[in-house]
Amino acid sequence: MRIILFGSPGVGKGTQAKIISTTLNIPHISTGDILRQAVVDQTPLGLAAQEAMKRGELVSDEIMIGLIKDTLSHKQCSNGFILDGFPRTLTQAVELDELFEQLNIADVRIVIISANEEEIVRRLTNRRACKNCGNIFNYNDIKDLNACPTCGALDSFYQREDDKEDVIRNRLRIYKRNTEPVLNYFQNKKNEIYIDGLAPIEDVTKNILDELKKANTKITA
Ligand code: AMP
Repeated sequence: MRIILFGSPGVGKGTQAKIISTTLNIPHISTGDILRQAVVDQTPLGLAAQEAMKRGELVSDEIMIGLIKDTLSHKQCSNGFILDGFPRTLTQAVELDELFEQLNIADVRIVIISANEEEIVRRLTNRRACKNCGNIFNYNDIKDLNACPTCGALDSFYQREDDKEDVIRNRLRIYKRNTEPVLNYFQNKKNEIYIDGLAPIEDVTKNILDELKKANTKITA
């Protein structure tokens, strides 16, 4: 199955993408994760992206389109994927369609998750990431623990530079300006599914899987 997970920063795309990737056994392609790893490794991609990322701004379309072409053309994506964080501009959406055509991909489902802006700010400022495994947790869940529940690393939690409140507000502004117009582009395709991101995590997952089934897509879970 091929899925694009779309929605503003903090709406729960990453969390849902990880669960659905495991449930449906398809690779999770997070452009944010790929870029963050490139920054840690200080590769040419990481060096080119790091300043924009720190400010919560978008990395250039040229870099992002090159990255997504390399990733989706790889054979690990030939039987499906869940795309998280791409496209984020109209140019990226149009180029992605062209890439799908070149790769003979015609069955993509677009899952659009939405949530209220203040709830998003609250969620993102409460997020902490593990330096070792990169997994994200709610601050209230981890404040009594000194070990990461996923990898066991000690004292490894930190707040991502782009999860600080001023940067979050900037990311939301950029989402409204550059990314929301992509919604109109998707609406013309008539294969999108709308999901309320404010429900508990398990309910959001269930709603996504139910809607995908209803959309007559073969689910291998
Ligand atoms: P995310 O983890 O998806 O919120 O992405 C973190 C950061 O990576 C974003 O704030 C951008 O700076 C950059 N980024 C990720 N995906 C894209 C994209 N499709 N286009 C431009 N920048 C991106």
